[in-house]
Amino acid sequence: MGLEERGQTSAVTEAVIAAEREVLELHARGVPFDTVLDRFVRILEDVFGDGVRISILLLDDEGLHLHHGAAPHLPEAYRRAIEGVAIGEARGSCGTAAHRRDTVIVEDIATHPFWDGWREPALAAGLRACWSTPIYSAGGQVLGTFALYYEEPRAPADEALRLIQMVGRTAAVVIERKRADDERARLLAELRELEARYRNVFEATADALLVIDTSGAYADANPGAAALTGYAVDELRAMRVGELSADPAAAHATWRTVVETGGWQGDAEIVRKDGQIVPVASIVTPVQLPAGPGFVAALRDLSERRALERMKEEFHAMVAHELRNPLAAIAGSAQLMLSTGQLHERALERIVRQTQQLSRLVNDLLDTHQIEAGQLRLQLQREDLASIVRTCADEVARLSPGHRVDVALPDHPVEGTWDADRVSQVLRNLFSNAIKYSPPGSVVNIRAERRDGDVRVSVSDEGPGIAPEALPRLFDRFYRAPSARGSQVRGLGVGLYVSREIAAAHGGKITVQSAVGRGSTFTLTLPVRCELPSIASGSGSVSGTTKSSPPVLTAPRRGMD
Ligand code: ADP
Repeated sequence: MGLEERGQTSAVTEAVIAAEREVLELHARGVPFDTVLDRFVRILEDVFGDGVRISILLLDDEGLHLHHGAAPHLPEAYRRAIEGVAIGEARGSCGTAAHRRDTVIVEDIATHPFWDGWREPALAAGLRACWSTPIYSAGGQVLGTFALYYEEPRAPADEALRLIQMVGRTAAVVIERKRADDERARLLAELRELEARYRNVFEATADALLVIDTSGAYADANPGAAALTGYAVDELRAMRVGELSADPAAAHATWRTVVETGGWQGDAEIVRKDGQIVPVASIVTPVQLPAGPGFVAALRDLSERRALERMKEEFHAMVAHELRNPLAAIAGSAQLMLSTGQLHERALERIVRQTQQLSRLVNDLLDTHQIEAGQLRLQLQREDLASIVRTCADEVARLSPGHRVDVALPDHPVEGTWDADRVSQVLRNLFSNAIKYSPPGSVVNIRAERRDGDVRVSVSDEGPGIAPEALPRLFDRFYRAPSARGSQVRGLGVGLYVSREIAAAHGGKITVQSAVGRGSTFTLTLPVRCELPSIASGSGSVSGTTKSSPPVLTAPRRGMD
């Protein structure tokens, strides 16, 4: 029985309305879209009766192709044959209807030219008539098609067409809601991804970041803030502006400026959880928080920069002092001779000594620079260490007649492959330290011995010794123990640093044993054979191997201690 034959059009209309209400309810309850659409089609198939098979196809976002929506009673093979059909003129009933934006009635698929491309699968599925109507959005955009298939050729009555269009509007509501849901889900996913991305940046930023709401409470903090302040992120979230500051009154004044002007930039000091005060550079900028406007404070630890600045100042003062003293001595000696019109042996000696001191100073500075740049070069040759030790000890003893220098060497040469000039530089530095840091009249003992594959040169003095807390920093660049800094003993604090680097470039080391009041012993240990290939392979470069062209080793750059 066809619709028009039922003679109960109002009853059918009501059934359609009931079907519409049911699917909208299903949709509102959150039943999946496919299930709702499927249910809608099945109910309508019952309402329309008469062996009708209904199909809903959905137009893709580009508005070019139709895809399966719901068609529970169309054979799978046929559904596959029409899946993704491009809309256009003469592209089946649905493709044409979507393209024309108009209802397309094909009374007999077997003969109608619109079905030329799909006739075979349609007939194979037992389909002969297909009436299709576009489904429009509220804005008039085509969302898909609603089609009725029959197994025998047939034309629709007006009533059927009216119903089809009415049903199309309900389908549109469901599809539009689904599209809106999809769009919302897509936006939400995008938002979550965006948030996750910002979260990653927030978490990974090395600077300390504190998110502050307009009441001055810390709404959030990143791990950088936890590292800087020593408080856990959760602890920070329970704090407010001023609580981290070393000067809470100033912090509150700053906060007022932030609120009034929308930001602030400057240096401040914070108190870590352990009580330590840390200088920080701070930039406060406005941000939009989920709960409303707020601010982000980015804090950068300035301790290292401040320490470097201090070190630079100290260094300049030290260099100025170290240059001024020898220059004053040279000028004084020269003036003495000028005023007397005579050459004075002691004045000349002083000039020579002071010039040597100046040139050592300049060399030390240059060496420091070379080491930093990884350009410390060794000229390796076969050498006798015993004679190097003897020469250096004699030199130092001659310049310091006030000390007794005892040298104990093996009675045979101690041969090995070293850079004689660089090794002499280390020894001169260790020997002259022993002399300059111990009182006149005391004894400096120098010993050289061979042990297994190494040679050791130790120098012991009867000086004041070195405080245990100074020992770990002794070989640091520009470090001078407090006792040395407070004394008249001059120095730049680079001799041991350079010496350690030279020893290391040879594959050796310098160690120190010292006790306050009991003197110090520095020991240089060098491998007899400087292992060129192994040093060269990992960290330096070597060229030349003969005596006439000695191997040159560029020592690797070491990090600043
Ligand atoms: P400088 O002697 O120019 O200060 P060095 O690098 O040679 O620099 O030595 C670093 C510091 O180590 C010295 O300032 C001094 O405090 C300490 N030091 C080195 N040798 C001795 C020593 N024999 N006795 C006591 N202190 C020493």
